[in-house]
Amino acid sequence: MRCPFCGALNTQVKDSRPAEDNGAIRRRRFCGECGGRFTTFERIQLRELTIIKRNGRRVPFDRDKLARSIQIAARKRAVEPERIDQLVSGIVRRMESSGEPEISSQRIGELVMEGLKTLDDVAYVRYASVYKNFREASDFAELLSELSEKQLASVDDHTDER
Ligand SMILES: [Zn+2]
Repeated sequence: MRCPFCGALNTQVKDSRPAEDNGAIRRRRFCGECGGRFTTFERIQLRELTIIKRNGRRVPFDRDKLARSIQIAARKRAVEPERIDQLVSGIVRRMESSGEPEISSQRIGELVMEGLKTLDDVAYVRYASVYKNFREASDFAELLSELSEKQLASVDDHTDER
């Protein structure tokens, strides 16, 4: 696994343990180059899921991207990383059990907002702002100033392009 900090491939697993009620394995990893520590999760993937964007383009569902977009919305809020992970797992389970291999980006956005509503009001408003493109919301202006282009692109990838 490539180190997210320095890009080195020389990383080692320090610890592995069950997570998410045994639905996943959490691994603590260590980079031999820069000493960075990071966590990875191993999960069962029942089948490939595809996102249909508003413009009709199909892209493979990317769990990490979805998680990142929620993390950005919840930045500096008192939301446990575990709760975000549970939210993402819940959404993936709903997608997998829907029987449809394809899901619209709009539907994912709705599922995220549904979940965020119960997690954190500000994160919800931020996500909804990006989702609905309500640029006048003051929280969104603040969020926007903190985000890099790349992070915003990852939020957009799981919402709509209008
Ligand atoms: Zn490193």
